[in-house]
Amino acid sequence: MAMVFCVECGKKISDRALACPECGAPNRANVMIAGEKKWWVAFILCWMVGVVGGHRYYLRQTTSAVIMTILTCTIFGIFITSIWALVDLIILLCHAGDDAWVNQVAGIRPVVEKVSRTSGAKKKTVSKPVARKKAK
Ligand SMILES: [Zn+2]
Repeated sequence: MAMVFCVECGKKISDRALACPECGAPNRANVMIAGEKKWWVAFILCWMVGVVGGHRYYLRQTTSAVIMTILTCTIFGIFITSIWALVDLIILLCHAGDDAWVNQVAGIRPVVEKVSRTSGAKKKTVSKPVARKKAK
């Protein structure tokens, strides 16, 4: 178990902690890991409980998930939600094994992606085209 610094108060907290015990600020790194969605989980949920929008709850699409649940409860709505779930299942199959896409749907940006983007931008500003011309 490693210790990390809280982004809010700077106190040492466990990297496994979901929030800082001192100030209550969410441990950003851990929240990202905990919130990371897996494609196979979404697929199984869609397959097993797709008609009640189980996969949509998982992918944080709560509004459409609630609509699916209500429709299924009305019995007649099952005709709509069964087709809806089937369409979602096909969409999921089109993105088979693509965890990055699943996270994008859920509105989660992986930490690794963010870090690589910022470091890439820094490298661009560091490069000196003037120095290269002098070398020639
Ligand atoms: Zn704190």
